[in-house]
Amino acid sequence: MYSLLPDIFGQTVFKGWLKFLKLEADTGGKIILSVPSAFIRDWIASRYLEKILETYRHHVPDTQLYGIEIVVKEEESNSAAPTPSYNTQNNESEALDNYLLKNSTAGLDPRFTFENFVVGKPNELAYAAAQRVAESDQVYFNPLFLYGGVGLGKTHLMHAVAWQLHKTQPQRKVIYMSAEKFMYQFIRALRHKTIINFREQLRSVDILMIDDVQFISGKDSTQEEFFHTFNSLVDQKRQIILSADKSPAEMKGIEERMRSRLGWGLVADIHPSTYELRLGILQAKAENLPMEIPQEILEFLAHKVTSNIRELEGALNRIMAHATLVGGEITLDKTQEVLRDLLKANEKYITIEEIQRHVAEHFNIRVSDMHSSKRARTVARTLQIAMYLSKQLTSRSLPEIGRKFGGRDHTTVIHAVKTVQSLQADDPGFQNDLSLLEKMLSH
Ligand code: ADP
Ligand code: MG
Repeated sequence: MYSLLPDIFGQTVFKGWLKFLKLEADTGGKIILSVPSAFIRDWIASRYLEKILETYRHHVPDTQLYGIEIVVKEEESNSAAPTPSYNTQNNESEALDNYLLKNSTAGLDPRFTFENFVVGKPNELAYAAAQRVAESDQVYFNPLFLYGGVGLGKTHLMHAVAWQLHKTQPQRKVIYMSAEKFMYQFIRALRHKTIINFREQLRSVDILMIDDVQFISGKDSTQEEFFHTFNSLVDQKRQIILSADKSPAEMKGIEERMRSRLGWGLVADIHPSTYELRLGILQAKAENLPMEIPQEILEFLAHKVTSNIRELEGALNRIMAHATLVGGEITLDKTQEVLRDLLKANEKYITIEEIQRHVAEHFNIRVSDMHSSKRARTVARTLQIAMYLSKQLTSRSLPEIGRKFGGRDHTTVIHAVKTVQSLQADDPGFQNDLSLLEKMLSH
């Protein structure tokens, strides 16, 4: 009957839980099974016991069985390898034990606090939600799912929650770890047969934070384990905070049941940063520097380094390092020189094709109209605008631009540029329209 369990419950449940069952006694009316820990007993009892009983009755037809009891019986320890316990010493899972039990601030970056987090439109929801979680002892939304591109502050916010809890509610057990670490610890626990320990620890926390959850997509057994941890904590009304580079709906390689659970609570996105937020972050950082950095340099950086906050900080650090080592005033020229490679990587290249597409869309014509020699009046004006913008926003030469517009002469392009310039001077409405287009294209 024992051998039927894997088929009936599936390998995962069997390997994770049921394989620990041992037959202690069979009285005819009642079976006594043992497991190595109270946690496993409770888990099995609450989920699988009825079905085990049913299975038994089904397969042993004449049974008088009326009940199953599960008792806890600690495994006999052979002195060299102690049974998994919280005090394990000579065991590779020690790192996990320490990590989980003794020092919940291990691995937290001391700079990643709420005080050091600059709030702006792109991150205000994520910030407010993280604060709410850190300040209350109730679970309002579970999980809190933070997502956004790389370097936008997800890890910073999670650490901030952990620091805040550590300060104000030190009795609560908080675990923060990356999904990668989760997988690593899980595999190690499997290898060293400390999986019970691993589970009990993770499932006994008050707040669990797993960073970069996208890491476990496509990794089936880690995902399965994570799913059970997740469910167990939700059932116990413990708070979970997750981060990922995409929303649950956009994540690939995630099981459907998992995806839907991930979206159960509050899904808060962190948008790409805005100029204002970048400048705010730079100003906050600059305040803590031993050296004054001119405002115009900060503005320049906020304008030019747009990829992510980490790079922005990196830029500031490089300027500081340069100024400290080489000395001298921090000027715009020097900044440009020191950051040449970074600025280049952040440069936004716009192609003439993109300009044509946007302008055509804006004025509701077809791109192909721009290449044809037809000269409907409206198309002609639109064409001129697209040529003008190509001159302004790209480094292409006049003949090159002409060629991209159905092989027109460079003098046509010159004429277009002049026409648009004089129209702008005469007509504020037209100017507005144009600067809107320009903004859209150069962002
Ligand atoms: P993510 O985890 O989203 O990839 P991080 O949290 O590691 O990004 O943030 C990258 C860097 O940018 C960190 O040094 C962090 O302190 C900084 N940072 C991000 N957002 C902010 C913010 N709003 N205020 C201050 N620093 C920020
Ligand atoms: Mg991160």
